[in-house]
Amino acid sequence: MKIGIPNERFNNETRVALIPAAIANLKNEHHEVYIESDAGIGSYIPNEEYEKAGATLVSDTKKLYESVDVIFKVSPPTQNLTLKQHEVNLMREGIIYIGFLAPHSNRDVLEKMQDRKITVFAMEYVPRITRAQSMDALSSMATLAGYKAVLLGANHLGKIFPLLMTAAGSITPANVFVLGAGVAGLQAIATAKRLGARVEAFDPRAAVKEQIESLGAKFVEMELPKEDVETAGGYAKEQTDEFLKKEQEAIARRLSRTDVIISTAQIFGKKAPILITEEMVAQMKPGSVIVDLAAEQGGNCELTQANEVVNKHSVTIVGAVNLPASIPFHASQMYAKNISNLFRHLFQSPDFKLDFDDEITRSACIIRNGEIVNEMVKQLV
Ligand code: NAD
Repeated sequence: MKIGIPNERFNNETRVALIPAAIANLKNEHHEVYIESDAGIGSYIPNEEYEKAGATLVSDTKKLYESVDVIFKVSPPTQNLTLKQHEVNLMREGIIYIGFLAPHSNRDVLEKMQDRKITVFAMEYVPRITRAQSMDALSSMATLAGYKAVLLGANHLGKIFPLLMTAAGSITPANVFVLGAGVAGLQAIATAKRLGARVEAFDPRAAVKEQIESLGAKFVEMELPKEDVETAGGYAKEQTDEFLKKEQEAIARRLSRTDVIISTAQIFGKKAPILITEEMVAQMKPGSVIVDLAAEQGGNCELTQANEVVNKHSVTIVGAVNLPASIPFHASQMYAKNISNLFRHLFQSPDFKLDFDDEITRSACIIRNGEIVNEMVKQLV
């Protein structure tokens, strides 16, 4: 099959869907890779490296979209400002798209893809089962985001993280509180611990207590909801207002000693829960920092502004958006592995026929023959 890698045009996107090291395996399986000139520049990969790995460089964007069978993307399709056309309209009818799609906020893009009968596989819907772990780009990107969030927190804090005993006196470690201990939260805990902070964390899924403690952090005990808090896929369910109020109170009790909050609480496909109100921010110590990884989903803090760093009540609130794009080298490396594993799984049969009886193929497919086929996306739209 002919695989096309276009330049990413979403605001400030630096990642690229395939890196040269991932090309050899695809070529061994008789696929051809076509890459738009300069697509790797944001990830520090020059055109020559792709050519050396056996890819064909294409400088004409339209030609790239017209001539390939499959498009690998990182960010959802968007307007191509140079050609003044939407990327979906550049795609050949009936083509296959594999990439992130954020279907809940990109309804218009879904409609365009339906009109053009594009078969769409969305990275967000790769099922979170053991067999699909090597294709799980959400986890790869969340890992990087959790790491980077701590670095941002440390950078904005007017203190250092570790305990220091010096001739000029002792310095006590910073206190970091991680809200939500999914993939990003656990990586944030590990990173903050490595930097020497005292870390505590909370998540309504009781199963993560052990994981938090195994990283050397303290699990903040609070009364957990009696009903099932987790979906079959391992995601947290939306909590009641009553529970969220109790959670806010429990967080508020810790604010007088917290230096940095890393908030990662999210409900798949929904607005993020508000865990930190303005009143709570006002209780924090001057100079404290909140890094809100849920900024794009509305934020866990009432004062968060996505893509902005704001200072309110002497607290710095970082509305973190697309942090993996700030670590493009490794983000592209991990993403390239995930997407090529998914592609090879989808087209493993000798005649490249898709097997919709397979759980991974079925779950990741969002649009087929012009119809939305994924139940979760159907409900969202
Ligand atoms: P996510 O990004 O959707 O959510 C982040 C975290 O926020 C979750 O841990 C969630 O429990 C938490 N959260 C939700 N509401 C909260 C609240 N009110 N207060 C505090 N925290 C709250 O989730 P994620 O990190 O992408 O994944 C969540 C889970 O999915 C993982 O921990 C794991 O159990 C499962 N998972 C499984 C696989 C696999 O088996 N292959 C891979 C990845 C993830």
